Amino acid sequence: MSTVMSAVPSPVPAAPPRRRFRGSRLLAGAALAGLLALAGTPSALAQTTAPQTTAPQSTGPQPPPALSGPVTLIHAGTLLAVPGEKPVTQQTIVVRDGKVAEIRAGFAQPADIQTPDAQVVDLRDAFVLPGLIDSHVHIIFELGPDSQLRSVTDDPERSILDGTVFAERTLMAGFTTVRDVGSSARTGVALRDAIAAGKVRGPTLLVAGQGLAVTAGHGDINGFNEKVTEALSDSRINVCDGSDTCRQAVREQVRRGADLIKLSATGGVLSQIAAGTGQQMFDDELRSIVETAHLMGRKVAAHAHAADGINAALRAGVDSVEHGSYLDDESIRLFRQTGAYLVPTLLAGKTVVDMANRPGVMSPAVKRKALTVGPMMQRNFARAAKAEVKIAFGTDSGVSAHGINAQEFKLMVEAGLSPMDAIRAATVNAADLLGIADRAGSLEPGKDADIIAVSGSPLENVTALETVDFVMRRGAVHKMDGRRTPFEPKG
Ligand SMILES: [Zn+2]
Repeated sequence: MSTVMSAVPSPVPAAPPRRRFRGSRLLAGAALAGLLALAGTPSALAQTTAPQTTAPQSTGPQPPPALSGPVTLIHAGTLLAVPGEKPVTQQTIVVRDGKVAEIRAGFAQPADIQTPDAQVVDLRDAFVLPGLIDSHVHIIFELGPDSQLRSVTDDPERSILDGTVFAERTLMAGFTTVRDVGSSARTGVALRDAIAAGKVRGPTLLVAGQGLAVTAGHGDINGFNEKVTEALSDSRINVCDGSDTCRQAVREQVRRGADLIKLSATGGVLSQIAAGTGQQMFDDELRSIVETAHLMGRKVAAHAHAADGINAALRAGVDSVEHGSYLDDESIRLFRQTGAYLVPTLLAGKTVVDMANRPGVMSPAVKRKALTVGPMMQRNFARAAKAEVKIAFGTDSGVSAHGINAQEFKLMVEAGLSPMDAIRAATVNAADLLGIADRAGSLEPGKDADIIAVSGSPLENVTALETVDFVMRRGAVHKMDGRRTPFEPKG
């Protein structure tokens, strides 16, 4: 796929140009990629192009929207603006101030919108769709044979530097928003804020802080000797037993900047304890967490494998069940009754099975759980999808490598979802689950210009999404022709 950007100056004088044509003309040709070294916020476009111009930069509130701010015209050969609806051909997305301002039929030129210095992105050979959303990642962590050791050798400072690398990989894979459902202390919060400020390149992050767990449960400190366990205990503000301490645990995470609350309703595959994958939180603990989180305007994501834990979490009113490996008929009924989402994380299931089959990677306790849970995940996801349970895309990246998130699509389709429904899970549905449907998940006027493009139609072959050629986040181009553009941090 070839993408060429050009700026076509209009002979029609528009409103007083805030940037001179010279800047626009320089955008043609090889200099272009450099100029697109945009930070993660809309105003970055104006700031990045500033050295090419002498026009003053506006800093205060913007005057009339019609003629203000940097404008980009994206010529889309095929556009799937709202996944679930039919794609249309030959469209122009007008991007202004980092938002979708308008979508027009045909290929509009800068003169057509009275904005002569508008940039044009040529994606006439491409399939264009909203930026993807992954509802389940661990952005500062990546599983390896030494993960257990690294949890006591690496400081948070080192983890967060890893996180900046993972965040960039994730964005380059076409994921413009991800939900971090568990990181240590405030690392996720810090990374979220650095990306939002344009200092670090990455997707928009929503973070859970530390996931809540019960003593000895999934998410507590397991598998160390007593001295190490004791030494690590001051970081156990995420561990709660009984409804009162669970209330407090929610509030501690909110105080530290969490956008949502994650809890472990059941055991987990990767916890270093042979405690199975059954229910670990009592009903009153689950209820207390959900009520407190909702009171404070936070959604709740529940890690759950076994059916007893899935069903208890759904009855308590969680907003999503993560994994859902052993969901049963009652779970399906509860999903449909409550409207909660299932976040299947099939890629994690596949990854842990692959790891369990390699000698020396997993402890016996973990290996046993991995080999049982992995295949169940895929099988029961198929049942849930058939029963029209609401599905939001999530990979558990960090268990699998960051940047291969889109491999989840193939697994979803193999389990029986249509490519359109799989894409909808990663856009419209995920945005709804995350509570950001007013700004993400589809390309409509007023929403963030989070836009990606691939070669070929993912509706025919969903693996087309594994190779993303173009990435725009909030109006800033981060990838063009399959290559990352230079990035100039703000601040
Ligand atoms: Zn996870």
